[in-house]
This record gives sequence, structure tokens and C-alpha cells, in this order.
Amino acid sequence: MGETRTELSRLGEFGLIDRIQSKFSISNQSSLKGIGDDAAIIDAGDDSLLVSTDMLLEGIHFDLSYMPLQHLGYKAVAVNVSDIAAMNGKPEQIVIGLAISNRFSLEAVDALFEGIHAACQNYKVDLVGGDTSASASGLVISITVLGRVAKDQVVKRNGAMVNDIICVTGDLGAAYIGLQVLEREKQVFLSNPEMQPDIEKYEYLVGRQLKPEARMDIIHELRERGCVPTSMIDISDGLASELLHLGKQSNVGIKIFEDKVPIDHDTYETAIEFKMDPITCALNGGEDYELLFTIKPADYEKLKNHPDIHFIGHIHNDPTQHVLVTKQETVVPITAQGWKHFKGE
Ligand code: ADP
Ligand code: MG
Repeated sequence: MGETRTELSRLGEFGLIDRIQSKFSISNQSSLKGIGDDAAIIDAGDDSLLVSTDMLLEGIHFDLSYMPLQHLGYKAVAVNVSDIAAMNGKPEQIVIGLAISNRFSLEAVDALFEGIHAACQNYKVDLVGGDTSASASGLVISITVLGRVAKDQVVKRNGAMVNDIICVTGDLGAAYIGLQVLEREKQVFLSNPEMQPDIEKYEYLVGRQLKPEARMDIIHELRERGCVPTSMIDISDGLASELLHLGKQSNVGIKIFEDKVPIDHDTYETAIEFKMDPITCALNGGEDYELLFTIKPADYEKLKNHPDIHFIGHIHNDPTQHVLVTKQETVVPITAQGWKHFKGE
């Protein structure tokens, strides 16, 4: 007794990362950017190399009772590619760390790698290595991705400037609602295995949870249109959380408008069915893997006709004010739950 014990839940994910970061400094000249962005930036002459890693754990990030292994393999690659996209880069290689228990058969591992293979082909990345281990219980898949970008094209989280326009791609909240549907059907199935899951009508939402795509298409289109965002991040934890990252790292204020936040019709209707507020799902849902970025006002003309880019607000000069203007025109602060896993939810 007498020794202090601090619960990790007191720091949360971001507090923990800040603490790790505070204990390390960078000593190699080639380490251009360390902890704190979607990927690290390594000097490689005219180009920058990008490195990022993301881990998926059974029971925390996925549940194999509704996540087919092919989809899991695909998703594990896609979420890593998404972090390279968020730096305006192109993914080139992955290495895979795999821990697997004897509960899995060869056929199961084949299915997992079928999905990984499909993603490698789709995103044009090479699997170049990894590590394989037995696991005491669940499946763990950890992927590290390497990417590349011309030095003058790299986009970080810290470049947003006053008056820049805030953009998001696709639509938000669908992956979260898709997860609610899957959880509900699992409970129905557990209580009565005779019942067939009723997910057809939720195909889009469930697909957004099980088969996310990294928005490399947007990265190519930004390039074609000659637009380099001033800042960018991918939406893995929810729009609110990512907006706060951009605001904090760029030292600027955020203002977005509720009626501009893209929410798909199915997401909206199903949120209501679950007695949830659709905008809350879009702000805090997470796992959409869309891109959030800012552009100079002068670049608006280049993007304004893009069918899948939405302009949701702008940057202002007070870094203490991150706000959402509701449909009723009330101004409310943007808050984020961040990562939930340490909070025992
Ligand atoms: P993302 O959501 O884009 O994957 P994270 O929120 O996971 O980013 O991580 C934010 C930053 O913190 C990244 O730069 C990441 O490399 C770094 N980071 C996260 N966990 C650790 C860790 N255990 N040790 C060192 N750096 C970490
Ligand atoms: Mg990211």
C-alpha cells in the first residue's frame, strides 16, 4: 500500500499519447515529423516517406460473430491507407504483424489474407513483410504502412489558417449506425438462433462498418484539380474529435454549421429508429474514414462542383472557440469523447 496508482481512464487516449511524446525527443535529422500527425514524415530527398501503424484487436475493434474475415483483412489495410491519404500521400508498402490462436483454421487465415490481398490490389500497395505469432486468446492484426509524397505536397494537421474553408468528404455517422444495427442483430440472434438477421434494409450502413474505403480517390482528384489542402486528417474517431485536433494543432478556431454536415438518408432514419440524434452520430460516431481538410478560399472554385466534397464551415482566429451553429442558429461548443476503450464503455 501507499503506492499511487493512476487509472489510464484519467488520461484517456490522447493524454496517454501526449505523455509518451513528452518523454521522447527527436535526434535524427531525417525524422522530419514524429508523433502527432496521421503519419510520421521521414526525409527522403525530394520526397517524404510517410509511416503509420494501426492495430485491430478482436473484442475491442471487431467481433468475428458479424465481421467476416475477408472484410477484416480488407479493413485492416484500408484504415492504414487512410492515414497516408490524410497526409496527401500515396501508399506503397505494408508489413503485417499477426497474432493468432489455434481457434483459427488455415481456411480462416486464408480468408483473412484474401481480404488483405484485395485491398493491396485496390490501393496498389505491396505486402513486403511482417511477423507471425501464436496468441493466447484473440486475433490481433497490426499493420504498418509506408507511403510517399513530394516534399512540397505533404499536408499536416497544423496548417489551417484564418478564413480557410473546412471540407469533409462522403457522409458521416453511417459506420457507427451500421455497428448499432450489427450489435442489435447479434443480440436477437443470441436470444433466438432461429431468427434470421434482418440487415438487408441496412445494407449501406452495415457496409460502411464492415467495408470502409480509404479515400485515395479524393487524393488523386485534389491533385488533378491543383488543390493542396492547408491541413488534413482522416475521420477515424469522429468529426468532432478530428476538428479539435486541427484547431489545436493549427492554433485556430473552428466554426461549422449543422445543416452542412453530410448525413446519408439511411443514417438519419436509422438513428431516429435507435432513438439517437443523427448529428450526434455524425459528430462522434467514428470509423467513417472520410477526409477532413481545409482549403484556402481561393481554391474553392476548384472544388465547388465536386459531388463528394462538402463545405461545412470555416477557420477563425480565436483558438479557444470551436463551435457548431445548429439548425436553430444556436452556437454550441464542439466537444469530443475521443477514444472510448480506456473508459470501460
Ligand atoms: P490516428 O487516429 O490518425 O491513427 P492516433 O490518434 O492513433 O492517430 O495517434 C496520434 C499520434 O500519436 C500519431 O502520430 C501516432 O503515431 C502517435 N501514437 C499513438 N500511439 C502511440 C504510441 N503508443 N507510441 C508512440 N506514438 C503513438
Ligand atoms: Mg488518422
